[in-house]
Amino acid sequence: MTRPPRPHAFSYRRSVLNCEALPLPALAARFGTPLYVYSRAAIVERYRAFDRAFRGRPHSICYSVKANSNLALLRLLAAQGAGFDVVSGGELERVLVAAPRAARRTVFSGVGKSAAEMDLALRAGILLFNVESEGELELLAARAARLRKPARVALRVNPDVRAQTHPYISTGQRQHKFGVPMNRARALYRRAAREKYLDVAGVSLHIGSQILRLQPFSAALRRAAALVRFLRADGHRIEYVDAGGGLGIPYRHAPVNDRMDAGDSPALSAYARAILAPLRGLNVHLLLEPGRALVGPAGLLLARVLYRKSSGRRHFLVLDAAMNDLMRPALYGAYHEIVPVGRVEAGDSPAARNFDVVGPICETGDVFARARPLPPLHPGDLVALLDTGAYGMSLASNYNSRGRPAEILVSGRSARLIRRRETARDLMRPERPPYPH
Ligand code: PLP
Repeated sequence: MTRPPRPHAFSYRRSVLNCEALPLPALAARFGTPLYVYSRAAIVERYRAFDRAFRGRPHSICYSVKANSNLALLRLLAAQGAGFDVVSGGELERVLVAAPRAARRTVFSGVGKSAAEMDLALRAGILLFNVESEGELELLAARAARLRKPARVALRVNPDVRAQTHPYISTGQRQHKFGVPMNRARALYRRAAREKYLDVAGVSLHIGSQILRLQPFSAALRRAAALVRFLRADGHRIEYVDAGGGLGIPYRHAPVNDRMDAGDSPALSAYARAILAPLRGLNVHLLLEPGRALVGPAGLLLARVLYRKSSGRRHFLVLDAAMNDLMRPALYGAYHEIVPVGRVEAGDSPAARNFDVVGPICETGDVFARARPLPPLHPGDLVALLDTGAYGMSLASNYNSRGRPAEILVSGRSARLIRRRETARDLMRPERPPYPH
């Protein structure tokens, strides 16, 4: 029996862009814009493809909550078997609300864990603390002793490899604040092993994000494997290697309908080989912390054109979405495809031109794209900013006192509001007015 082709998460049907079986204009009418739209099928499929790539080797996928921390997505991923990678008490609280039993499959990374965050994680019984400094090790030992709750620990080592990505999301070189230098690691493990309430159990690393080459992963894992051998020779029982996250996604695309949702499977298997080959023979449980690769392509930001204006030679499209809703272009100069929601057919678009696509915020940097060739869009038209499921909403802010967008999860023909749009009142709620009124 041949299987029917899997539906594209986002595809044009009768010239209108759909998420699964729902046309985006209907979603805009129902939920307003700007609006984050996620495809449930795409998230599940991407998780499964990632999992399949490592099948046959003991592994756990700890989804990196920072990529998109919506409770509904956390619950969806936990239901597929995912654990989580958290970097703050707030992210852990989200896991505890969305999927309390997944705490046992949760790892805690980050250079600045506070005592209160450690206590929360110790009480929740998480799987592993990825410790990033001697000071943190000492504090964790003290907190664990005080609560009489043993902490399983890995040291996050800094393998000093170039991730070959944007400098702001590169984390695995000596000059970065993350992890402990390789040459200090063995002494720190010895130090950790003396602590009654620390259970030294792993080696962890994370070299950066949006990495499209495999060589940095294999180089980092080779170093981690060598360290595991030394540590075992030193008498430590190393059960886990946490390879972190970082696998990139293509942001520049062929037209939407030519994309395959699982079109990156071969790359996934090559990625898995790059991670697994250096660990061969070590008999460790592999932990992986993907974020972007699981949810990035599963989401888009739907926005409406408010105005069209020209100044000299530049033509602007002013959207109702802004850098506070999607920060990546302003923060990293990141590229996102911008496509019209109602497709302008060939022959129908003689006036296609290069637009600067901007938001309403009072910052010159509030630009999604410069001189981007687009069909002749007009006020009222809808556009979609693609591949914004990761580091979109989770980086959103309230700058200019703008409420953050609503988020919806589409499954087939149904759409569920998984976060309502923020109102001005929501934003003011934590504040205390200076005078009673
Ligand atoms: N793990 C850690 C410790 C991180 O800091 C990050 C983000 O940079 C990730 C995992 C997830 O990275 P990505 O979304 O690139 O997979």
